[in-house]
Amino acid sequence: MKITSAEFVTSAPDLDSCPESPLAEIAFIGRSNVGKSTLINFLSGRKGLAKVSSTPGHTTLINFFLMNKAWTMVDLPGYGYAKRSRAQKGRFNEFVSDYLANRPNLHCVFILIDAKISPQTLDLDFIEWVVHCQIPFALIFTKTDKVKASFLKKNRAAFMKSLAEHCDGEPNTFTCSSKAETGRQEIIKFIGLTLGMG
Ligand code: GDP
Repeated sequence: MKITSAEFVTSAPDLDSCPESPLAEIAFIGRSNVGKSTLINFLSGRKGLAKVSSTPGHTTLINFFLMNKAWTMVDLPGYGYAKRSRAQKGRFNEFVSDYLANRPNLHCVFILIDAKISPQTLDLDFIEWVVHCQIPFALIFTKTDKVKASFLKKNRAAFMKSLAEHCDGEPNTFTCSSKAETGRQEIIKFIGLTLGMG
Protein backbone atom coordinates (compact mmCIF):
# COMPACT_ATOMS: atom_id res chain seq x y z
CA MET A 1 0.00 0.00 0.00
CA LYS A 2 1.13 3.54 -0.75
CA ILE A 3 -0.16 6.54 1.16
CA THR A 4 -1.60 8.87 -1.44
CA SER A 5 -3.65 11.22 0.71
CA ALA A 6 -4.16 12.10 4.37
CA GLU A 7 -6.64 14.58 5.77
CA PHE A 8 -7.90 15.53 9.20
CA VAL A 9 -11.56 14.59 9.70
CA THR A 10 -12.54 15.48 13.26
CA SER A 11 -11.69 15.27 16.96
CA ALA A 12 -13.96 13.55 19.46
CA PRO A 13 -14.07 14.00 23.24
CA ASP A 14 -15.83 10.68 23.88
CA LEU A 15 -17.03 7.51 22.17
CA ASP A 16 -20.50 8.89 21.45
CA SER A 17 -18.94 11.79 19.53
CA CYS A 18 -16.82 9.54 17.30
CA PRO A 19 -17.96 9.79 13.69
CA GLU A 20 -20.11 7.01 12.34
CA SER A 21 -18.11 5.49 9.54
CA PRO A 22 -18.09 2.33 7.50
CA LEU A 23 -14.31 2.66 7.05
CA ALA A 24 -11.81 0.48 8.87
CA GLU A 25 -9.82 2.17 11.62
CA ILE A 26 -6.19 1.72 12.67
CA ALA A 27 -5.40 3.36 16.01
CA PHE A 28 -2.19 4.55 17.65
CA ILE A 29 -1.61 4.84 21.38
CA GLY A 30 1.27 5.20 23.79
CA ARG A 31 2.56 7.19 26.72
CA SER A 32 2.75 10.92 26.27
CA ASN A 33 5.96 11.91 24.50
CA VAL A 34 6.51 8.46 22.97
CA GLY A 35 6.62 10.08 19.53
CA LYS A 36 3.06 9.30 18.41
CA SER A 37 2.28 12.59 16.66
CA THR A 38 5.63 12.56 14.92
CA LEU A 39 5.04 8.97 13.78
CA ILE A 40 1.56 9.79 12.45
CA ASN A 41 3.07 12.65 10.45
CA PHE A 42 5.89 10.40 9.25
CA LEU A 43 3.53 7.59 8.17
CA SER A 44 1.12 9.97 6.47
CA GLY A 45 3.88 11.90 4.73
CA ARG A 46 2.34 15.14 6.03
CA LYS A 47 4.44 17.01 8.54
CA GLY A 48 1.66 19.05 10.12
CA LEU A 49 -1.11 16.44 10.16
CA ALA A 50 -0.95 15.53 13.86
CA LYS A 51 0.21 18.30 16.11
CA VAL A 52 3.57 17.55 17.68
CA SER A 53 2.82 18.83 21.12
CA SER A 54 5.48 20.49 23.19
CA THR A 55 3.31 19.98 26.28
CA PRO A 56 3.13 16.29 27.16
CA GLY A 57 -0.41 15.15 27.84
CA HIS A 58 -1.89 18.11 26.03
CA THR A 59 -3.91 16.05 23.57
CA THR A 60 -6.95 14.53 25.23
CA LEU A 61 -9.14 14.05 22.18
CA ILE A 62 -9.41 11.19 19.71
CA ASN A 63 -8.33 12.51 16.31
CA PHE A 64 -9.48 10.95 13.05
CA PHE A 65 -7.55 11.15 9.78
CA LEU A 66 -8.90 9.90 6.46
CA MET A 67 -6.20 8.00 4.59
CA ASN A 68 -6.28 7.33 0.86
CA LYS A 69 -10.01 8.15 1.13
CA ALA A 70 -10.32 4.47 2.12
CA TRP A 71 -9.46 3.94 5.79
CA THR A 72 -9.06 5.95 8.98
CA MET A 73 -6.00 6.54 11.12
CA VAL A 74 -6.99 7.21 14.72
CA ASP A 75 -4.78 9.15 17.11
CA LEU A 76 -5.69 8.18 20.68
CA PRO A 77 -4.74 10.28 23.71
CA GLY A 78 -1.51 9.17 25.35
CA TYR A 79 -1.92 7.25 28.57
CA GLY A 80 -0.14 7.74 31.86
CA TYR A 81 0.70 11.39 32.08
CA ALA A 82 1.79 11.75 35.69
CA LYS A 83 0.75 15.40 36.10
CA ARG A 84 -2.86 14.75 35.14
CA SER A 85 -5.19 14.89 38.11
CA ARG A 86 -6.67 11.64 39.43
CA ALA A 87 -10.17 12.51 38.33
CA GLN A 88 -8.99 13.45 34.84
CA LYS A 89 -6.94 10.27 34.61
CA GLY A 90 -9.92 8.06 35.40
CA ARG A 91 -12.11 9.74 32.84
CA PHE A 92 -9.34 9.65 30.32
CA ASN A 93 -8.73 5.93 30.66
CA GLU A 94 -12.43 5.23 30.49
CA PHE A 95 -12.71 7.23 27.30
CA VAL A 96 -9.82 5.40 25.61
CA SER A 97 -10.86 1.98 26.85
CA ASP A 98 -14.42 2.69 25.73
CA TYR A 99 -13.23 3.38 22.20
CA LEU A 100 -10.88 0.38 22.06
CA ALA A 101 -13.32 -2.13 23.50
CA ASN A 102 -16.44 -0.94 21.67
CA ARG A 103 -15.49 0.46 18.30
CA PRO A 104 -16.78 -2.10 15.78
CA ASN A 105 -14.63 -0.91 12.85
CA LEU A 106 -11.31 -0.90 14.77
CA HIS A 107 -8.98 -3.34 13.01
CA CYS A 108 -5.77 -2.88 14.95
CA VAL A 109 -4.24 -0.68 17.63
CA PHE A 110 -0.53 0.06 17.48
CA ILE A 111 0.91 0.38 20.95
CA LEU A 112 3.98 2.62 20.87
CA ILE A 113 6.91 1.97 23.16
CA ASP A 114 9.92 4.26 23.51
CA ALA A 115 12.90 2.11 22.47
CA LYS A 116 15.06 3.78 25.12
CA ILE A 117 12.84 2.85 28.05
CA SER A 118 12.82 -0.60 29.65
CA PRO A 119 9.46 -2.36 30.21
CA GLN A 120 7.21 -0.24 32.43
CA THR A 121 4.27 -1.48 34.48
CA LEU A 122 1.98 1.08 32.85
CA ASP A 123 2.69 -0.22 29.34
CA LEU A 124 2.59 -3.86 30.39
CA ASP A 125 -0.71 -3.40 32.25
CA PHE A 126 -2.20 -1.71 29.22
CA ILE A 127 -1.06 -4.51 26.88
CA GLU A 128 -2.42 -7.09 29.33
CA TRP A 129 -5.80 -5.34 29.23
CA VAL A 130 -5.76 -5.21 25.38
CA VAL A 131 -4.99 -8.94 25.26
CA HIS A 132 -7.72 -9.64 27.82
CA CYS A 133 -10.25 -7.74 25.66
CA GLN A 134 -9.02 -9.56 22.54
CA ILE A 135 -8.35 -6.29 20.75
CA PRO A 136 -6.02 -6.85 17.78
CA PHE A 137 -2.76 -5.03 18.41
CA ALA A 138 0.87 -4.66 17.34
CA LEU A 139 3.84 -3.00 19.01
CA ILE A 140 6.05 -0.25 17.62
CA PHE A 141 9.35 0.63 19.28
CA THR A 142 9.87 4.33 18.53
CA LYS A 143 12.90 6.65 18.43
CA THR A 144 15.30 3.82 17.59
CA ASP A 145 17.85 6.43 16.45
CA LYS A 146 18.40 7.12 20.14
CA VAL A 147 19.60 3.62 21.04
CA LYS A 148 22.27 1.20 19.92
CA ALA A 149 21.07 -1.89 18.05
CA SER A 150 22.34 -4.08 20.89
CA PHE A 151 20.26 -2.13 23.46
CA LEU A 152 17.16 -2.34 21.27
CA LYS A 153 17.60 -6.09 20.92
CA LYS A 154 17.96 -6.52 24.69
CA ASN A 155 15.05 -4.22 25.47
CA ARG A 156 12.80 -5.93 22.95
CA ALA A 157 13.68 -9.34 24.45
CA ALA A 158 12.94 -8.02 27.96
CA PHE A 159 9.56 -6.78 26.75
CA MET A 160 8.69 -10.08 25.12
CA LYS A 161 9.69 -11.90 28.31
CA SER A 162 7.41 -9.68 30.38
CA LEU A 163 4.57 -10.17 27.92
CA ALA A 164 4.98 -13.93 27.62
CA GLU A 165 2.61 -14.69 30.49
CA HIS A 166 -0.17 -12.66 28.85
CA CYS A 167 0.24 -13.35 25.12
CA ASP A 168 0.19 -16.57 23.15
CA GLY A 169 3.27 -16.14 20.99
CA GLU A 170 4.97 -12.85 20.25
CA PRO A 171 2.84 -9.96 19.02
CA ASN A 172 3.66 -8.34 15.69
CA THR A 173 6.43 -5.89 16.51
CA PHE A 174 7.93 -3.04 14.50
CA THR A 175 10.78 -0.62 15.06
CA CYS A 176 10.93 2.88 13.69
CA SER A 177 12.61 6.23 13.88
CA SER A 178 10.70 9.20 12.53
CA LYS A 179 13.90 11.20 12.85
CA ALA A 180 16.10 8.81 10.88
CA GLU A 181 13.11 7.97 8.65
CA THR A 182 13.29 4.22 9.14
CA GLY A 183 10.57 1.59 9.60
CA ARG A 184 7.81 3.41 7.71
CA GLN A 185 7.38 0.94 4.87
CA GLU A 186 7.11 -2.10 7.15
CA ILE A 187 4.35 -0.49 9.20
CA ILE A 188 2.41 0.68 6.14
CA LYS A 189 2.73 -2.75 4.55
CA PHE A 190 1.33 -4.36 7.72
CA ILE A 191 -1.59 -1.90 7.76
CA GLY A 192 -2.27 -2.74 4.10
CA LEU A 193 -2.30 -6.46 4.86
CA THR A 194 -4.46 -5.98 7.97
CA LEU A 195 -7.02 -4.02 5.95
CA GLY A 196 -6.85 -6.34 2.94
CA MET A 197 -5.54 -3.40 0.89
CA GLY A 198 -2.01 -4.75 0.49
P1 GDP B 1 3.62 12.33 21.47
O1 GDP B 1 3.39 13.07 22.76
O2 GDP B 1 3.65 10.86 21.70
O3 GDP B 1 2.70 12.73 20.36
O4 GDP B 1 5.12 12.68 21.04
P2 GDP B 1 5.65 13.71 19.94
O5 GDP B 1 5.46 13.17 18.58
O6 GDP B 1 5.11 15.06 20.27
O7 GDP B 1 7.24 13.63 20.22
C1 GDP B 1 7.76 13.90 21.50
C2 GDP B 1 9.21 14.34 21.34
O8 GDP B 1 10.00 13.27 20.82
C3 GDP B 1 9.39 15.50 20.37
O9 GDP B 1 10.39 16.36 20.88
C4 GDP B 1 9.85 14.83 19.08
O10 GDP B 1 10.64 15.68 18.28
C5 GDP B 1 10.65 13.67 19.61
N1 GDP B 1 10.67 12.54 18.67
C6 GDP B 1 9.60 11.97 18.07
N2 GDP B 1 9.98 10.94 17.28
C7 GDP B 1 11.33 10.86 17.37
C8 GDP B 1 12.32 9.99 16.79
O11 GDP B 1 12.06 9.09 16.00
N3 GDP B 1 13.61 10.21 17.18
C9 GDP B 1 13.98 11.18 18.07
N4 GDP B 1 15.28 11.28 18.38
N5 GDP B 1 13.07 12.02 18.61
C10 GDP B 1 11.76 11.87 18.29
